[in-house]
Amino acid sequence: MKDTTHLLHTGRDPQAHHGVVNTPVYHASTIIFPSLADLDTVGQKKYPSVTYGRRGTPTTFALEKAVSEIEQGAGSILLPSGINAIATALMAFLETGDHLLMIDSAYDPTRSLTQGILARMGIETTFFDPLIGDDLQNLIQPNTRVVFLEAPGSLTFEMPDIPTLTKIAAAHDLTVMMDNTWATPLYFKPFSYGVHISLHAGTKYIVGHSDAMVGIATAADEETFLKLRKTAGDLGLHLSPGDAALAARGLRTMGVRLPVHMQNGLELAAWLQAQPDVVRVLHPGLSSDPGHAIWSRDFTGASGLFSCIVKPKPRAALAHMLDHLELFGMGFSWGGYESLILPAKPSRAVRNFDPEEGWLVRLHAGLDDCDDLKADLAAGFKRYAEF
Ligand SMILES: *Cc1c(COP(=O)(O)O)cnc(C)c1O
Repeated sequence: MKDTTHLLHTGRDPQAHHGVVNTPVYHASTIIFPSLADLDTVGQKKYPSVTYGRRGTPTTFALEKAVSEIEQGAGSILLPSGINAIATALMAFLETGDHLLMIDSAYDPTRSLTQGILARMGIETTFFDPLIGDDLQNLIQPNTRVVFLEAPGSLTFEMPDIPTLTKIAAAHDLTVMMDNTWATPLYFKPFSYGVHISLHAGTKYIVGHSDAMVGIATAADEETFLKLRKTAGDLGLHLSPGDAALAARGLRTMGVRLPVHMQNGLELAAWLQAQPDVVRVLHPGLSSDPGHAIWSRDFTGASGLFSCIVKPKPRAALAHMLDHLELFGMGFSWGGYESLILPAKPSRAVRNFDPEEGWLVRLHAGLDDCDDLKADLAAGFKRYAEF
C-alpha cells in the first residue's frame, strides 16, 4: 500500500467506536476497572492499554500507531511540543558525564537546550559541521553516547550525508536521533538510514493548520521505544486528547497537502533565483543547490520551507517590503496551510550564509495559488527596490 493510502486507514477503528470515522476524543483521568482481577492486570498487559489518563487513551494510542506505521518504526510516543520530544529523547539517552555530538545547523531551541539544562546536568556537547562526513569519527570521545541530526539544517538548509554519519555512529555504538520535522514521515524514512529515534514537531505539517502544539518521538526498535516511554512516563508527560485528535485529523490529509507545499516551494524558489535583489536561494530541491545530490538520493520529496538571501539594505527597507505583503504572514513556526515569511538570524557558526551577504529570509510556501504568491512577493521586491 502506498503511504498516501496508508495514511487514511492506519490508527483508526470505526467499529470499535460505534462506526465513528475518526477516533473520538477521550477526555480521561480515572479509568474504572470492573473487578479486582482486572485491576490486578495493570502493568502486565502489553502496551497500549487504557489504565490512567496520563498513560494514554484510545485517542492518543491511535495517533501513535498511525505515525509509527507511516514512519516504519517500532512505536511512537506523544509529547506536548516538538521541543519537548527532543528534550525527552536526549534525557532518555544521556546522563551526567556523557558527551553529545550535535549537528551545528540544528533548530536554535535544540541548541539552547544543550547549553542550558543538559550542560547543568553535566552533559557536554560538541557541535559539528553539517557537511563533516567521515571526519565525524575524529570528534568521538570515549564518553560520546548520542549523535543528534537534523536535515536539512534549520534556516540555512545544509544537507548532511546521513548514511555516512550513521555508519560512523553505528561503528561506535552511538544512539542516533534525528529531527525529521522538515521532511515529515512521508518524505524521509530515518530508520532505513541508521537512525534510532525520529523526532517531530507535529505542530508543523502533521497538525497542518497552525492550531495545536504536538511533539512525537518514534523509535526504530522495541528497546529504544520502551526507554523513551519510561522517561516520558517518569516525567509525567502527556499530550492533551484534543490536540492528539487535531494531529490525527491533520495526518489524514498530509498526503495531498505536502505535494502542493513542495510544488509551490520549488516554483517560488526558482522564481526568487531570478529576482535582481536575491543573492542566493537555499533549497536542496533546486538542482543548483550544493545539497541537491544528497537530497535527491535520500529524500522522496521536499516540504514548502526554504530560505533566500536578500541583498543588503537598511532594516527599514526590509520592513517596507514585508509589512505590506498580503498573502505572506510574518510569524514563527510553519507547516500550516498559510504562507509565511520571516527574516532570521541563526545563532550558530553558519557556513551556508554570511551575514555580510544580506538578509536571510525564510519562506513557507502555503497552499495558495503560486501565481498569487509570486505577485505578492513581486510587489514586495518592487517596494524594496524603490526604497
Ligand atoms: C518548530 C520546530 C521544532 C519545535 O517544535 P514545537 O512544537 O514548536 O516545540 C523542532 N524542530 C524543528 C525543526 C522545528 O521547526
